[in-house]
Amino acid sequence: MTEKYDYAIVGAGCSGLSLAVELFHSVPAGSRIALIDPRRNYHMDRLWCFWNTQSHRFIDAVRNEWTRWKVRYNGKEVVHESSRFAYQYLPAETFYAAALQEIESYSSADLLLGTKAEKIIETNETATVVTDKGPIQAWLVFDGRNSPGRHVGSGYLLQHYAGQRVRVASPVFSPSTMTLMDFDIPQRGGISFMYVLPFSPTEALIEPTVFSMSPHEPSVYAQMIRDYLQSRFGVADYKILFQEQGIIPMTTQRHQSYDTERIIPIGTAGGVVKGSTGYGFNAIQEISQRIAAGISGDCLNPLPEPRGELATILDRIFLSFLKRHPKAAPRVFFNLFKRVPPHHLIPFLSDKADLLDMAKVIFAMPTLPFIREAFHSMRAREVAV
Ligand SMILES: Cc1cc2nc3c(=O)[nH]c(=O)nc-3n(C[C@H](O)[C@H](O)[C@H](O)COP(=O)(O)OP(=O)(O)OC[C@H]3O[C@@H](n4cnc5c(N)ncnc54)[C@H](O)[C@@H]3O)c2cc1C
Repeated sequence: MTEKYDYAIVGAGCSGLSLAVELFHSVPAGSRIALIDPRRNYHMDRLWCFWNTQSHRFIDAVRNEWTRWKVRYNGKEVVHESSRFAYQYLPAETFYAAALQEIESYSSADLLLGTKAEKIIETNETATVVTDKGPIQAWLVFDGRNSPGRHVGSGYLLQHYAGQRVRVASPVFSPSTMTLMDFDIPQRGGISFMYVLPFSPTEALIEPTVFSMSPHEPSVYAQMIRDYLQSRFGVADYKILFQEQGIIPMTTQRHQSYDTERIIPIGTAGGVVKGSTGYGFNAIQEISQRIAAGISGDCLNPLPEPRGELATILDRIFLSFLKRHPKAAPRVFFNLFKRVPPHHLIPFLSDKADLLDMAKVIFAMPTLPFIREAFHSMRAREVAV
């Protein structure tokens, strides 16, 4: 028998849960909402960090923040400090707990865990999710299915990483300043840097991050962490408290599209995660708000775009440059932070840039190579960037 809902959300991860929470606050009371996900439970599987450039419903779930961050290259450091923007840390466990609490309090939502969507099709002015437990019909279906393996071999540059939250015996970390990018590590197998979130003098997340076409074996990231703790902090012994790993496609393309307006890709599948940075949390919150505001009964109008055209063009040029000139990337990133002050750079990295912010970023790029890259990426629109 087909179960009938007003709205179905396929994939109850970050984008699915965020959209559900927004819908609870905007659709008429009693609207039936299904959330479908093969996972059987929620656990601390990742952490989100972002600059506090906007308000959202999960602000109470933020657990830490830094107002100083640095980028290191070739023995030099550029440190940014901002009284306006803080770099915030939100662990998945508190995000999931807050979202699940909202779902429990909304009586006409069904969270169908342990249920895998096989396909989504348009059917007689509705859409049907074919699942391994039977069909589910809804006026609108939001497709937020995502899994790490999905993007491997896609032809896109990948941002891949595996981090460990470690505890060490002696105080070696400086909790006042987080490290966004430390390029002073071996540049093997792609553009490589270390990302460090110092939670206390003895606890930090150490995350090797690489931009390349294929991910490393897990043991490679673990070795990179060992080497980094030894070379940068003189630490040989440490306890691993938590691990996360991710693969994010670095592209401006949507990963999923449909011929019908009844099936709407969201989250990573909808191209919401910013290809050039891998940041997605804020954009997911914002687009969820815009989708919820745009729903009227059985239709969504208009379908919100994740970012403006100019931001997409800049991302495309930047990604094309990274893909074709990986050796130049560490210097380009370093100079970007050196030349653009945080109150212009953070809006750009967070998809909140105005024309002045964008101009500051464009003029911080090496002019001739980026003009060449702009022509290349225009000629190669069909190339996967
Ligand atoms: C480890 C990691 C760390 C990240 N850190 C940051 C960060 O610090 N800051 C930031 O802004 N962004 C970060 N991102 C990027 C982005 O914000 C996250 O990936 C975010 O979780 C994307 O949301 P999503 O809904 O697209 O995917 P997910 O949250 O991964 O949700 C996808 C859901 O789809 C489900 N699914 C898969 N197959 C099916 C199926 N057949 N049927 C139904 N459901 C299915 C999965 O079980 C999952 O629950 C990170 C990504 C990863 C992977």
